[in-house]
Amino acid sequence: MTTITKDKVVRMHYTLTNDAGEQLDSSQGGEPLAYLHGAKNIIAGLEAELEGKEQGAALKVTVQPGQAYGEYQDQLKQEVEKSKFGEDFDLKEGEKFQAQTEQGPIIGAVIEIKDDTVIVDFNHDLAGVTLHFDVEIMEVRDASDEEIEHGHVHGPGGHQH
Ligand code: ZN
Repeated sequence: MTTITKDKVVRMHYTLTNDAGEQLDSSQGGEPLAYLHGAKNIIAGLEAELEGKEQGAALKVTVQPGQAYGEYQDQLKQEVEKSKFGEDFDLKEGEKFQAQTEQGPIIGAVIEIKDDTVIVDFNHDLAGVTLHFDVEIMEVRDASDEEIEHGHVHGPGGHQH
């Protein structure tokens, strides 16, 4: 049996739910997700649990926020001047935008629009959320030298270049 170790390509179906059992994401009905094990292609908590598992295995994995998209940080919710947004920006609640920081670009979301200011939130959508994965491992194979060099999977479910 092929087991999951560093530099293996894994193709898996997964369904992701939160604590309330609401489905957040799923590969069912589409291509399985393909990732290169040990290359940080997927969240740390899930990758760690998949280590040593065999092709054909089905498992449930719970990942705490610290091992997934991080804890929710109150300071990442900010009130900014409306004028910070360009005139071309369609300012409405729920709208996502990219902002430049010293650490590089980050994605924010418009939470609330006030008279002169806007409440924005730079937390990841899944920050503070405990993730429940239902995983079925469809295939485990050796990665090619090129895949290891690139740090990601080529072909179905992976990069197409
Ligand atoms: Zn590549």
